Amino acid sequence: MIAHFPNEMTTKWKMDQTGKIKERIAKARAITVLTGAGISADSGIPTFRGEVGLWRNFRAEDLATPGAFARNPRLVWEWYDWRRGIIASKSPNAGHQALVEMEKRCPRFTLITQNVDGFHALAGNRNIVELHGNIWKVRCTQCGQVSVNRDVPIQILPYCKPASGGCGGLLRPHIVWFGEALDSRDIEKSMAALQSCDLMLVIGTSGVVWPAASFAEVAKSSGAYVVEVNLDPSAHSIVVDEVLLGRASEALPRLLS
Ligand code: NAD
Repeated sequence: MIAHFPNEMTTKWKMDQTGKIKERIAKARAITVLTGAGISADSGIPTFRGEVGLWRNFRAEDLATPGAFARNPRLVWEWYDWRRGIIASKSPNAGHQALVEMEKRCPRFTLITQNVDGFHALAGNRNIVELHGNIWKVRCTQCGQVSVNRDVPIQILPYCKPASGGCGGLLRPHIVWFGEALDSRDIEKSMAALQSCDLMLVIGTSGVVWPAASFAEVAKSSGAYVVEVNLDPSAHSIVVDEVLLGRASEALPRLLS
């Protein structure tokens, strides 16, 4: 079994499928897209798993957790402040723009993103599920109120402002951390879109963060044709119908040209 895998996959990667995929995009009545950090990498936002994803030698998995925040909220906020600073200085790229165009052309289009940078909305996509939250939103650890906060740098530590009707509790990023449950409404909306699409694109995600890692399989087993766009082969590559290797900012505009 294992011996066959590389040959089979190599053939997939070597084929020039762009024309075939373009045709499927043009004909699709319902497209569901899953994006990950790779689509924003071309805007200059570090992924978690690349070398530049490290901050002061901490791994994301050691900072983006409820335990890390309980132990040292200042450290976690300093990391988010660093990330907010980077995101604020960058903008959506041609890959994000291509997905805006795709949404305009397709009757039913759902964009599920694991990214927290807000770039899909900024680019102009409308039907978006922000599965892991948004870095520009904060949530009170006491009263649970969610609000938008675009301060760069953010005051560390930030509190739920009593002057604006807040309770004075410590604020945290409105982000789903490792070990936390996703919003059930986001899961339901994602599942509905995955199970009813005829084409799914999986873009710039390593496929190691659950449950998003299982989404390609859900779409495929519901009858969708699944295409991956990634710089390198990923955990998704074995599940999908086609793998398009390349930068999202170059490959996606080509698919719509
Ligand atoms: P990941 O870091 O695990 O994987 C990134 C993937 O993108 C890899 O498979 C890599 O090969 C691919 N890639 C890198 N550059 C690319 C390019 N130019 N074009 C196409 N593909 C490219 O990221 P993930 O799978 O999204 O999951 C990790 C978690 O990272 C998510 O929970 C997400 O919230 C978080 N994250 C988000 C951002 C952001 O909002 N921009 C940035 C870093 C991490």
